[in-house]
Amino acid sequence: MTSGRLRSAEIVAIGTELLTPFRSDTNSLYLTARLNELGLEVRGKTVVADDRAAVESALRAALARAEVVVTTGGLGPTDDDVTREAVAGVAGVGADEDAAVLAVIDGRFVRRGRRMPPINRRQAQVPTGAVVLPNPNGTAPGLWIEVGDGVVIALPGPPRELQPMYEDSVLPRLRARCGGVVLRRRTLKIAGRGESDVDEIAQPVYGPWRQAEPAISTTILASLGQVELHLSSQGEDAARVDRALEEAVEALQAVLGPAVFSVDGRSLEEVVGDLLVSRQLLLAAAESCTGGLLLGALTDIPGSSAWIAGGVVAYANDVKVRSLDVPAELIAAHGAVSDAVAEAMAEGVRRRLNAGLGVGITGIAGPAGGTDAKPVGTVAIAVAGPGDRCVVRTVRFPGDRVMVRQMAVRAALNLIRRVLTDADYN
Ligand code: AMP
Ligand code: MG
Repeated sequence: MTSGRLRSAEIVAIGTELLTPFRSDTNSLYLTARLNELGLEVRGKTVVADDRAAVESALRAALARAEVVVTTGGLGPTDDDVTREAVAGVAGVGADEDAAVLAVIDGRFVRRGRRMPPINRRQAQVPTGAVVLPNPNGTAPGLWIEVGDGVVIALPGPPRELQPMYEDSVLPRLRARCGGVVLRRRTLKIAGRGESDVDEIAQPVYGPWRQAEPAISTTILASLGQVELHLSSQGEDAARVDRALEEAVEALQAVLGPAVFSVDGRSLEEVVGDLLVSRQLLLAAAESCTGGLLLGALTDIPGSSAWIAGGVVAYANDVKVRSLDVPAELIAAHGAVSDAVAEAMAEGVRRRLNAGLGVGITGIAGPAGGTDAKPVGTVAIAVAGPGDRCVVRTVRFPGDRVMVRQMAVRAALNLIRRVLTDADYN
């Protein structure tokens, strides 16, 4: 029986269907969020088939690494539901039919005017020493059982049964055993730098934090056009953990500079929106290769009507000329994908739509249309304004059409941000 505070957890998702391409384990996402709220760090997750030996081996391995092991699934009445037996197996105990549990299961059927199918009797088997967690939303009761220095908590698979059971029966018990420990996270979001680049700069700074007190663990995550540094720290003194993380965020901001666009969870779109609001500017966009994706991303933000004027999808050269006043000679002289045309698009849309800031995007998304001088992935992005400033970049993105278009949107958002945060940026 554990008396010390619980700090670490693992999740074992049980179900053969979870090992197919058709179902995914979403319970562990819910559970991770809830366990983290109690200060429990989730150290690992396992997905196993409905097979008693596989479940027992996963439970043993998880118990060797963490103090709390939460299982989901496999508590049903059928032959392939083996969690009860596996839990009893690792606890080294037998199981007995619990009359009270049986009466509750039977009652569920009786209330619906049905007879309890004989196989449901299995669900009343309770491993010796286990606490039964009631299930008001289904027949499968959950289990809480102490195993050595750890605890195994077995919850049903259906989220609508698992979640209320966690809230009503697991949370109060766990809280009593975790009290005082907090787990906090901070995220730095970075644009305009690659993953290895960020790591090269940040690693010397965050490396030693693993051994610090409180220790801070760092994860680096790259997605299209964006890198995130996730920091987390656990401890009994919440103020001290918060302070350590705040100092860590500041130290990373100092080395990464203006590449860091958010330390408070905001997305790049939200940061751009907030900047436009504070500068009282309206944005207009002229999009060629992104076909409206930039305005799509920006107008996903609730309240964007306060800072978006609108835009023109100027795919054909003819539309660039007629709707944006891009001189036909400019296109002839420089090509549709060029700094000069991106600038003219940005300035044209800004003037036509009476906005404070104009954005122009023109590029070659592929797969066709590339040349030696301008291969697929070449995108010119211009931001016109505020005032008579115009900043333009030509970038070459890797990847296929989907990737080039998405990266172009990220790069445009980042260019807008840089222009709005740095009066000298050019
Ligand atoms: P079980 O308790 O194993 O009979 O699971 C019953 C149902 O719960 C499954 O058919 C799934 O729809 C759902 N389920 C089981 N495990 C999970 C999981 N890890 N995440 C989300 N849903 C699950
Ligand atoms: Mg199952």
